[in-house]
Amino acid sequence: MSCCLSMSALSQSSQVLNLYSARHYQTDEALYANFTKQTGIKINRIEADDNALFERLRSEGKSSPADVILMVDAARLWRAEIEGLFQPIQSKVLETRIPKNLRSGDVGQGSQWFGFSTRARMIVYNKAAVKPTDVDTYEKLADPVNKGRVCTRSGSHPYMLSLIGAMVERSGEAKAEAWAKGMVANMARAPKGGDTDQIKGVASGECGVALTNSYYLARIMRSDKPEDRQIISKIGFVWPNQAGSGTHMNVAGGAVAKNAPNKAAAIKFLEYLASDQAQQYFADGNNEWPAVPSVKTNNEALKQWGSFKKENISIAAIGKNQIYAQKILDRVSYR
Ligand code: FE
Repeated sequence: MSCCLSMSALSQSSQVLNLYSARHYQTDEALYANFTKQTGIKINRIEADDNALFERLRSEGKSSPADVILMVDAARLWRAEIEGLFQPIQSKVLETRIPKNLRSGDVGQGSQWFGFSTRARMIVYNKAAVKPTDVDTYEKLADPVNKGRVCTRSGSHPYMLSLIGAMVERSGEAKAEAWAKGMVANMARAPKGGDTDQIKGVASGECGVALTNSYYLARIMRSDKPEDRQIISKIGFVWPNQAGSGTHMNVAGGAVAKNAPNKAAAIKFLEYLASDQAQQYFADGNNEWPAVPSVKTNNEALKQWGSFKKENISIAAIGKNQIYAQKILDRVSYR
């Protein structure tokens, strides 16, 4: 494969960084160009979705030229950590800038991965069919009042595994299982599609209520397309669990690859991602919030949303709990 030979050749230079990224957004161009300008380090990008990145890293093994890996969701980041795709790093900058609950646990020599932006798991409902007070917590989605109303993507998707993993963390396995069982009983249709498909189902009236990551909703809200305006006119949204545990939050994050040929450049790049300007580019590219608390979003849709109560659970614990989450899903046949 000519792609990989040239990557290995390039990886010999100290002025190069090989970036494996599951993200691709407009603002990323400025994000990377700015790093090269500041450091003189050129970035070679391999962009693919998370599953393709996993496959590639597994097959490349020890000879992988990857220096930095960017992925989304704690469930995937934790899995990559467990599979040995990352290495721990020590960085005062990252430890100071990235809150402890938004990075992997310490392993004696620093953290393995760091969240660089955050996303919320929100509830959207059909305004004509559903009262917002019936759907203002995750727990209520599993209540009999919502029978026949709930649409959901596959339970085994990382976004659902993480949500259930968070429930296991705060309420225990038995309650999380009862919830998953209630969700199955309330389904309007068999699980299918992604978060945007759930939003569309809610707008069309096929579904009364669904879960979505915040950036999918923000994307539709910022769109001028008539079909998107139509969707927005039909749906309402709530920040779940505001009177209790807060809205479930997750991250997009990154790590230094296990066999990074350019480790120093890789650490420099992750530290750069935690800088004020990079935080804004990184988060704004996908309508997310900066992970560094002092950095303010400059995204109009998110500014309009204002602030809300966020769940405060370690993202590392959420990632790990996917093991329990998957077993729960299997037991209640949440496909
Ligand atoms: Fe997504």
